[in-house]
Amino acid sequence: MRIVGIRETAIPLKSTLANSSFDFTEMTTSVVAVITDVVRNGRPVCGFAFNSTGRYACGAQMRARFIPRILSADPGSLLDDSGDNLDPTKIFNCMMRREKAGGHSERSIAIGTIEVAVWDAVAKIADKPLHVVLSERFNGGKPTEQVFCYVGGGWYWPGQTVRDLQDEMRHHLDSGYTMVKMKVGGLPLEDDVRRLEAVLEVVGSGDNLAVDANCKFGRDEALRYARALAPFNLRWFEEPCDPLDFALFSELAAHYENPLATGENLFSTPDVENLVRFGGFRAGRDVIQIDPPQAYGIGQYATTIEMLAGHGWSRASLFPHGGNQMSLAIAAGFGLGGAESYPGVFGDFGGFADDAKIENGAISLSDRPGIGFEGQARLYRIMRELAAI
Ligand code: MG
Repeated sequence: MRIVGIRETAIPLKSTLANSSFDFTEMTTSVVAVITDVVRNGRPVCGFAFNSTGRYACGAQMRARFIPRILSADPGSLLDDSGDNLDPTKIFNCMMRREKAGGHSERSIAIGTIEVAVWDAVAKIADKPLHVVLSERFNGGKPTEQVFCYVGGGWYWPGQTVRDLQDEMRHHLDSGYTMVKMKVGGLPLEDDVRRLEAVLEVVGSGDNLAVDANCKFGRDEALRYARALAPFNLRWFEEPCDPLDFALFSELAAHYENPLATGENLFSTPDVENLVRFGGFRAGRDVIQIDPPQAYGIGQYATTIEMLAGHGWSRASLFPHGGNQMSLAIAAGFGLGGAESYPGVFGDFGGFADDAKIENGAISLSDRPGIGFEGQARLYRIMRELAAI
């Protein structure tokens, strides 16, 4: 068997939402199809992925380096020992040939997206859901029926009122979610606190609410927000400052008792290790939110989990960023703390399978082979067109 083609295309997300730091009007994502010569039900098996949300499409690197490296390799060198399936580690190593150390995000998103699409193909060839394949390889085969899932919402949008925000949160609770996250840092602190108190009226307790500042604050503002947020005992305070300002994270961790969160803007195992070594991040309390397709993919995610375990971190503290089928399969397969959800935003790319059920804050898993994009009708149409199957 072999990979016969890899296609990619850039698709606009068509979102008018904004966080504290930027809006999504120009945001795009790369969709990837890894086409194999394995045929099931009269069609070639294809692995699909996209580069999650918040980072722009990265087709240039894929076209110039990573796709040609895979397609020019000896096909047998990319297979597992059985010879019946692809080996994601060998394909990752093939993409990393002639790459210099460091400078991760220049390539980690392109490589990670292709790697996750390879895993989709691997699971389809094995005829199992990806979360089952990952559980067998990385979590002792523990079965998972459902995953804790919270809504990443509470965005800023033009003309929004506090009542609109409360209605949004009420809708999430009515849909079966128990925990929500809202943006902070897009308005003066006093106005943000007013929004937060309004959302707390709806969700009841700080345990059910996290806030996300999207790296907005410098030192003084981060400390001012931390002081203002502390009495609300929130589930977590996400990305108060620049993702690489470990000194400020460390200072915040010394002053702010409740959980801090970050990780969606760290792209390699060494970056995350620096966070826990030098950022004051507290095992058992704080939350790490790597986005696997943006950070070299699933193989590196497994390496990062192992590294974190060596620093006393459990999987319950990991919530992959992304709000999509990929991060859901990864959360389920590795037995992580939970997954994020973006219902109704990011066009065809947000949300989960059309038949997924959310109850008491947990989402059901699909038994479709692979990641399960086939259960998202609008997104799968884009993927099928790309692969021409
Ligand atoms: Mg965030």
